[in-house]
Amino acid sequence: MEHKISLYQVALQQLDDAAKLINLDPNIHEKLKYMERILIVSVPILMDDGSLKVFQGYRVQHSTVRGPGKGGIRYSENVNMEELKALAMWMTWKTALLKLPLGGAKGGITVNIKKLSPRELEHLTRRYTVEILNLIGPTRDIPAPDMNTNSQTMAWIMDVFSMHRGETTPGVVTGKPIEIGGSLGRNRATGMGLYFIIREMANKMGYKFLELKYIIQGFGKVGSVIAEELFNVGCKIIGTSDSTAGLYSPDGLNIRELIKWKKKGNSFKDYQEKGVEIIEKEEILTKTCDVLIPATTENQITSENADKIDCKILLEGANGPTTPAADKILEERGIVVIPDILANSGGVLVSYFEFVQDINAYFWDLERINNEMRKVLLKALEDVYHVAQERNISLRKAAYVLAVSNVAQAIKLRGFYP
Ligand code: GLU
Repeated sequence: MEHKISLYQVALQQLDDAAKLINLDPNIHEKLKYMERILIVSVPILMDDGSLKVFQGYRVQHSTVRGPGKGGIRYSENVNMEELKALAMWMTWKTALLKLPLGGAKGGITVNIKKLSPRELEHLTRRYTVEILNLIGPTRDIPAPDMNTNSQTMAWIMDVFSMHRGETTPGVVTGKPIEIGGSLGRNRATGMGLYFIIREMANKMGYKFLELKYIIQGFGKVGSVIAEELFNVGCKIIGTSDSTAGLYSPDGLNIRELIKWKKKGNSFKDYQEKGVEIIEKEEILTKTCDVLIPATTENQITSENADKIDCKILLEGANGPTTPAADKILEERGIVVIPDILANSGGVLVSYFEFVQDINAYFWDLERINNEMRKVLLKALEDVYHVAQERNISLRKAAYVLAVSNVAQAIKLRGFYP
C-alpha cells in the first residue's frame, strides 16, 4: 500500500525532484516550498430555512514573482488547505511553463453545492468574494472557474468586486460570460488544449492519432469537451464515466448522444444502448486502450491500480491525477505520461488571452483564440519533449525542469526583499 501523503507533500516532492535536476539554488528552493499568502475565511450564509450556516473558504497564493496570482476557485466537500497549497503551486508551474506573465494561486470553499439552492449559492459566492476582496484584483490575483464553479460564479465575483471598487473591473476574474468581458473559447479551452496536445504527441510517437482508442475518465467541463473534439474528427472513444458509472463499448461510444443524455440531467448508470456495457466507474481506468485521459480529480491513479493501467499514453486532464508512486510504476512500464501542468494548461492559457483582451478592451474571434492557443501549447510541448529526450527523463520531470527554472530565474532577477 502506498504511504498516504498529502497533496502538498506530493507537490513538494515534485519540486525536490526538479531542484536536483537543475541544481536549484537552495535559497530559491527554500522560498518556493512555501505559499506567499494564505487567507482562511468564514462565509456565513442565511439559508433558505432561516438558519445560519458557516462555510470555510480559502484563497492561497503560492507565487506572484512572475505576475499576479492566477488560478481557479473550486467548490467541493473535499476542499482543504493541503489540497489548495498543492494546486496553487501547480498553477505557478503551469503559468511559468507557458511563460505567461502570471503566478500561481488557488481558492475554494468546502461545500457540497448539490445541497444549496440557487439563492444560497449566489450568496455564498458573493460573501466569499467580500471576504477575499483585499487579496484579489487584476494586478494582484485573478481567480477563474475550477471544479463546480463556472462563468456565472465569475460574473458574481466580478460584480461584487466592481461594486466595492466603484468601477466595473472585468480583469478581476477570467472565465466570465462573453457579455461582460469573457473570451470566446474559454469554456472549452482545457478540453481543446488536451486535443491539440494529444494530436501532436501521437504524431511524435509515430501513431496515427485517428486510429487510437481513447478512454476518458469523467464527462464534465473537461472530459466531455475532449471527448467531443475527438469524436467529431472520427476517433473512437471506447470508455468514459461520470460520478455514477462507467460506460464501455469496444466499438466506440456515440459521444454526441452522451452529451445530449447528460444535458437532460441523466446519469450514466441509467444509460441504455446496444453494445454499451455499464461498469463500475473505477473500472474504466484499467480497461485496455491507447490513450487514457483522467479528467476528474486528483489521486485517481495510485500504486493500487498503476500496474493494471493498460494504455500507451496517459494524458492528464485533471490536476494531480497520478500519485508519485504510480508515476514511477508507469514510467517503469513504459507508459508515456503527459503531465497535467502541460496537458491541461489550455484553460489558463485562454484565461490569459481573456486578461489580455480585457486590458485592451478589444476582443478576438474564435479562430484567433484557437490558433494562438495551438501555437503556444505546441511550443511548450516541443520544449518539454526536447528536454525529456536530451536528458533522458520523463515528460513530467522535463516540464518541471523548465517551469521551475523559469520561476527561479525571476526570483534571482528580482532578488529577496528587503
Ligand atoms: N482551474 C483551471 C486550472 O486548474 C484554470 C485556472 C485559470 O484559468 O486561472 O488550470
